[in-house]
This record gives sequence, structure tokens and C-alpha cells, in this order.
Amino acid sequence: MNVDQVRALYLDHLIDHQHVILDRAPLVLRDDPTTLFTGSGMQPLLPYLLGADHPSGDRLADVQPCLRSQDIEEVGDNRHTTFFEMLGNWSLGAYFKPEQIRLAWEFLVDKVGLDPNRIYVSIYSGDDGLGIPADEESAEIWRDLFAAAGITADRVDLVTEERGNDEGSDGARICGYRDKNWWSRGGGPETMPIGDPGGPDTEIFYYFPKVEHDPAYGEHPHPNSDGGQYLEIGNSVFMQFLRTDDGLAALPRRNVDFGGGLERIAAAAIDSPDVYRVSSLWPIVVKLEELSGRAYAEETPAMRVIADHVRGAVFLIADGVRPSSKEHGYVLRRLLRRAIRFAHGVGLGDGTLSTVAEVAVDIYRDAYPDIAAAREEILAALAKEERQFRRTLAKGLRELRRLGKENRPLNGSDLFTLYERFGFPVELATEEARTMGIEVTDGAREDFDTAMRRQRELSRASTTMGA
Ligand code: ATP
Ligand code: MG
Ligand code: MG
Ligand code: MG
Repeated sequence: MNVDQVRALYLDHLIDHQHVILDRAPLVLRDDPTTLFTGSGMQPLLPYLLGADHPSGDRLADVQPCLRSQDIEEVGDNRHTTFFEMLGNWSLGAYFKPEQIRLAWEFLVDKVGLDPNRIYVSIYSGDDGLGIPADEESAEIWRDLFAAAGITADRVDLVTEERGNDEGSDGARICGYRDKNWWSRGGGPETMPIGDPGGPDTEIFYYFPKVEHDPAYGEHPHPNSDGGQYLEIGNSVFMQFLRTDDGLAALPRRNVDFGGGLERIAAAAIDSPDVYRVSSLWPIVVKLEELSGRAYAEETPAMRVIADHVRGAVFLIADGVRPSSKEHGYVLRRLLRRAIRFAHGVGLGDGTLSTVAEVAVDIYRDAYPDIAAAREEILAALAKEERQFRRTLAKGLRELRRLGKENRPLNGSDLFTLYERFGFPVELATEEARTMGIEVTDGAREDFDTAMRRQRELSRASTTMGA
């Protein structure tokens, strides 16, 4: 089963359950100043989850391309990409926990064909201090579904994140967490803004017994331990509380928000803990192997970074973003320059990005026709950015190595030089330094930002004077 099939199965499943399928939102949300990019299917629907009526009704679904630049440092692992597609469905007062948990189960088990024996879930374990009960309803619904599949669902509550890693939870089908399984705009129940809705969530994990557990994440592997054995494939949020002046009250209209990782579910469907093996990423990796003459097995993190960043850039450019030194454009530039740096590292020369992007454009030809429509602009923007950065990349790396020999930590002015003269985004320079074992001073980033601000003011002043 490939990504296109999983995507289609999901939408058909939701149509069968009377949902209206919405068009995807762009990656840059025009009226949302809170984040640079659409990072979940829920984000464009927030006004409706907060109470407004949606013109398409109370049962909605879509597949939303997402960009999480906050996950950039995770890229290279088996399951985080900055760009991914999120499957989403929402109930605006139409249905609640039993229907939602069953909807998700039927999709994953009956439609996609995942092995119920390898499904593990987490629930909200309650907070005595705040007087919020555990989400026993969700636990009960899960227990019944597992029981119907002949599986006994043991439950363990891991009260805090820190203690979670040390408690014996191996084999527990249902894990309760106090800190992780709660959603509101402000985070946990304590920090929920007054007047806002929120509530418990329940996450779904797929277990890969052959993956070695990384002991850095604690002795006992368990869902959410991030050790690689459990892949989070979906998450249902139940908005049932309203934060008032004196605590939590029941919300009159209860909503559901489900988000599922398309690539991760497609990976589970082919029994791969590595999301890069799915049909929307693997052809890009194969192209990289072909171009470089090197094997994915030997260049795993680098090829993952290049594949992810180029794919994300393709969608960003199609949605109107261009590389620049500010905001959205800066994130795009950062992705591209990071990809170029890694391409250089595996011996790939100028022109790599657009060659690789052609593969990505092709992958999404049917699912996202607007990508193919923007093909020429995408390839031209990538070629231009690569040409520019390639000109100074080798010199910049040489400068960084030279600075490393000075036997002192890098400061803000070093980072500014690397940016000004060699086009190194500050995050990339910092990351490179770390890889080379060069220290960076604590205040370096702040000093860099100050230098940037000063430079912008100067250039603004000179433009005004010249006008
Ligand atoms: P994780 O804990 O793995 O970082 P999350 O809890 O941050 O995931 P959610 O905000 O719950 O993710 O998003 C809904 C779903 O989207 C997740 O269950 C997961 O399947 C998928 N997802 C989230 N982040 C990524 C990512 N960086 N790459 C690929 N899929 C992702
Ligand atoms: Mg995350
Ligand atoms: Mg998570
Ligand atoms: Mg989650």
C-alpha cells in the first residue's frame, strides 16, 4: 500500500461517515500571525473549534500539507520531517469519544490493515492537584476495541515525563500521562487561557519490535519514550472543558480534532519504522543514491535531510514563498542552504536541488496539481539559490575550520561574518561548529541578532537618504 492509497482510503472512510472533505489550506496562513507556517490540520480550523459555525457543517475532514520548522533538528531520525501531510477529521459538536476512537481504529485496522497487536495508545491520566479526572472514558473505549480483537489492554499511569522513563511500563497497552496528553492553545491545564476550550487527548502508536530501543531514553521503552520503537501515528483531541476564572467548566459544545501522520501510517502499512521508505519519499532517496553513487544505508541522516528539505521547499515555493533574509523566506533559505551543505557532504555538486526537486514534483502530480503547475518556478528558484550559496560554501567551511584552530569559542561577530560573507544562516553555522567540535559562546546568538538589526537599520537609513 502506498501513500496515495492511504490518503484515498482515509478520505473515503470519512466520506462514508458523512464528513465533508475540505480543500487544503496554503502553507502560509494569511490571517494567522501566531506562526509562520501551517503546522497542523487543526490550525486553519481553529476559529470553528473555538465556537464559530463552519459553512460546510459539523463533520469535516481533509489532508493538510504541514511545515514544522521547529522539528528541523529532529530531521535525520526515522520519523520527523519538517514537511509532512496530516490526515485530519473534526467533529464540531456532532460526535465525541466513542465515535472518534472507533473511526480511527476502523481506518487503521480494517482499512489500512495494521496489526492490532502492535497498536499502543496513551491517555490523560488526570491531575489530583488540579482536580481533573483521568480520561477513563477513552481508556474504556480502547479497552473494548482491543478486547474485541482478542487483546487484553493493561494500563499503566506514568505520572510525569521524567519518571515515565524509569517505570516498568513494558507491554502496557494503555499508558496514562499527566503532562503530555492535554491540548489547549496555552499548553497544559494550568496554562490554559481563561475563556479557552481544551481537554485530554489520546495518541496512537505503532510498535516495531525489531527496532533496538535507545537506552538514552530510559530503561523501559514505552509509547512516547522517543526511543524509536513506538511510532506515533495519530492523535485525537477531545475539547470538553472551558477554562473559567475559577477552574474548568464543562464545555456546552464538545469538539473532536484528529491528526494523523500520513507518511507514518503509510510506513506502518509497509512495516517500516523508517518514514523515508514510503512512496512519497523513497524515489527521492533513490535519486540521491543514483546521483551520488553512495548508499542510503551509509549516508542515512544526510540523505534524509536533503530529501525532506527539498520536498518541503517544493511545497513552500508552490505556495508563493521565495528565499529571502526574513520570516518565511528565511526559513526556506535555511532549508535550502542546509540541504546544499549536506549535498556537498555526500559529494553532490551544483544543480542537485533542482534535479532532486523534479522527482518530488512528479510524486505529487496527481495529489497536488498546483505543484506541477508551479514546476518551472520551483526549479528556477532552487537552481538560483543553489548557484548563489555554492559560490561561497567551500570558502565558508574553510573559514569555519580556520576559526576552529584559533582555540577559542565562536562569538556573535564570527557568526555574523559567516552570514555576511559566506551566506551561512546562523543556525547552520552553529550546527556546523558543533559538528566540528567548536564551541559557541552563550551570548553569540544574541550578539548576532544585534548585529543583524544594526545592519538592517543602516541599510534602511541609507535607502531613505538616497531617496
Ligand atoms: P511527535 O511526538 O512524534 O513529535 P507530535 O505529537 O508532535 O508528534 P501531533 O502534533 O500530535 O504530533 O501531530 C499529529 C500527527 O502528525 C502525529 O501523531 C504524527 O503522526 C504526525 N507528525 C507530527 N510531527 C511530524 C513530523 N515532524 N513528521 C512526520 N509526521 C509528523
Ligand atoms: Mg512533535
Ligand atoms: Mg507526540
Ligand atoms: Mg501528538
